[in-house]
Amino acid sequence: MKGLVLDAVWEPKPDYVVSEWEKETGKAITGNSIWRHPKLEVRDWEDPKPGPKDVLLAVQACGVCGSDMHFYETDEDDYILYPGLTKFPTILGHEFSGKVVEVGKEVEILKAGDMVTVEEMIWCGRCIPCRNGYPNHCTNLEEIGFTIPGAFANYIAVDEKFCWKIDAIAEHFGSEERAFEVGALTEPTCVAYNAMFERAGGFRPGHYVSVFGAGPIGLAAIGLAKAAGAGTIAAFEISPRRLELAKKIGADYAYDPRQVNAGEVLMELSKGEGFDFHVEAAGAPEQIVPEMEKALAINGKIVQIGRAAQRVPMYLEAFQVRRAQAFGAQGHSGHETFPNVIRMVAAGRLDLSPIITARYGLEGTVDAIAKSTERADGKILVKPN
Ligand SMILES: [Zn+2]
Ligand SMILES: [Zn+2]
Repeated sequence: MKGLVLDAVWEPKPDYVVSEWEKETGKAITGNSIWRHPKLEVRDWEDPKPGPKDVLLAVQACGVCGSDMHFYETDEDDYILYPGLTKFPTILGHEFSGKVVEVGKEVEILKAGDMVTVEEMIWCGRCIPCRNGYPNHCTNLEEIGFTIPGAFANYIAVDEKFCWKIDAIAEHFGSEERAFEVGALTEPTCVAYNAMFERAGGFRPGHYVSVFGAGPIGLAAIGLAKAAGAGTIAAFEISPRRLELAKKIGADYAYDPRQVNAGEVLMELSKGEGFDFHVEAAGAPEQIVPEMEKALAINGKIVQIGRAAQRVPMYLEAFQVRRAQAFGAQGHSGHETFPNVIRMVAAGRLDLSPIITARYGLEGTVDAIAKSTERADGKILVKPN
């Protein structure tokens, strides 16, 4: 089969201390400190063989993620920008849907022909965080498209326990093709759901919600906020095209934060009461959190989804006076997240299909990732089969 392979050279930066674990496993914990001269190429790759508990999926759609963009873009010394867990060479791609074409002999839940979407985090189920019910914090994590082969490929083999059926979505849309496309949005939507509803405990219907950043995760956050009954939704984003998408998905107001003072705008919209629920999905908390602080309602919540290896100036006095809280979140597994998102989409309560703005075949995957660096699209899909 073919796949989009990322190869890079293991060349730790001079100031980076490589741990024993990294040496043993060949996995970089902080990818951007180790992997240099990345090369992305669609090329031949060995056909995946499903193990006893695995299903073989023919990939139908796979979204380009911000992290894929951070493998394509490099710093001035030609190191990848992505700062997380990585092992190369591997096939990229982790936001996907597919059709089961073969099952291992111990597979019990799925059968050939089933339509599924898949978790990206291969949690072990045996480490202490997993056993305590926190799979998003697994200490033996493998990640599809980061440390093991991903879904910018014709086929992928994955343990059936990470797959979730999307046939109800196909029934809702009356189209398998549409269901596979929308199904590929499930993973990033679950990242927003996990942060907003599992980690931060959600908001009350009627609450004022702000979302900073209207890339795919921020757009999903807007759609979820709308579906969950937010009173007013305000979005901030610098790309004009994404501002339009934010409105289409459910934002009542959408601003370029360079043209307004975000904190003041939120105070005006809420007539001085402040916003109840703030979502950071831009990855620029050092600029955004101070604006959120200016507009914290009593009991206000700040939810951090965007990734940024940065210290953030926070005025904790504001959190005391406003009885406010800040929440960190990562991942999408566990906590009923996948099934609840699939239910919302299948019920027509959450329709993120307008955020799909471009489609490519497998041979065009490098072009698809290059296009994502313009940061103007919603979700770009690769459709390998
Ligand atoms: Zn992603
Ligand atoms: Zn674990």
